[in-house]
Amino acid sequence: MGASDARENYADHGCELVCSAASAPARSPLGKKGITPVVVRYLILSDLHANWEALDAVARESSGKYDKAVCCGDLIGYAADPNPVVQWVRDHCATVVRGNHDRACTGLDDLEWFNPVARAAALWTQKALTPELIDYTLGLAKGPLVLDGFEVAHGSPFDEDEYVLAATEAGHAFEYLECRLAFFGHTHVQGGFIWNQGRVETIGRVPAKRASETLEIDPECAYMINPGSVGQPRDGDPRAAWVLYDSDAHSVAYHRTPYDIESAQRKIRDAGLPAILADRLAVGR
Ligand code: ZN
Repeated sequence: MGASDARENYADHGCELVCSAASAPARSPLGKKGITPVVVRYLILSDLHANWEALDAVARESSGKYDKAVCCGDLIGYAADPNPVVQWVRDHCATVVRGNHDRACTGLDDLEWFNPVARAAALWTQKALTPELIDYTLGLAKGPLVLDGFEVAHGSPFDEDEYVLAATEAGHAFEYLECRLAFFGHTHVQGGFIWNQGRVETIGRVPAKRASETLEIDPECAYMINPGSVGQPRDGDPRAAWVLYDSDAHSVAYHRTPYDIESAQRKIRDAGLPAILADRLAVGR
């Protein structure tokens, strides 16, 4: 997981990070009055996009390895299983921020900014999602949210719809962080960025031949961590992407999990959704 060249000088923006919570998590084995267990292990998911086969594989692989699950948005749109995916998130994720597709698929946004494929999927999802799960999705919070010493966003910390793809964009986004650690999605690219003494370094995805890769959190640095996409990876690896964050061990473990892509593709085609949405799952683009 190599860090690439630095391109952004943090000092040039006169920026200060005001919170060092990532380096000072609650360490007591028991909470107030000795009854509340301290949460230390987080499952971080993003961009599930109604792909049940991918989410089911991740749920099985991560089972028993986390205390609390967090979702960075885009539960729906693109694939053919919005109801089981939203239901799973509702049942398992303590904190969820909304994504742009969650707004579009529930009628909260008009679809003029969507390309024809995304628009077709949003209109299909509006009809497929149950009224109860539409209500749940409509109630999702706008990011970023601050949670237990870290932030959760869909796009960037200053705009939920902004894509943070390059180090230059990340350098700008770091200025808006309230904590030294943030999780975000939207790009469907696993990895993220490290602010290290005024330089921004890029984190790569898990190598194709490996199932996971662990990043140690340095309290002197700041981190924007992208778990990658569960349901529609676009970083060249078709395996479902996700992250485990251990606030006690100060580490982030990136994971990739194979799943039944053919079954997810068949459902997309059978639903009459655009074929490209099935085809792209096989190549992770
Ligand atoms: Zn997305």
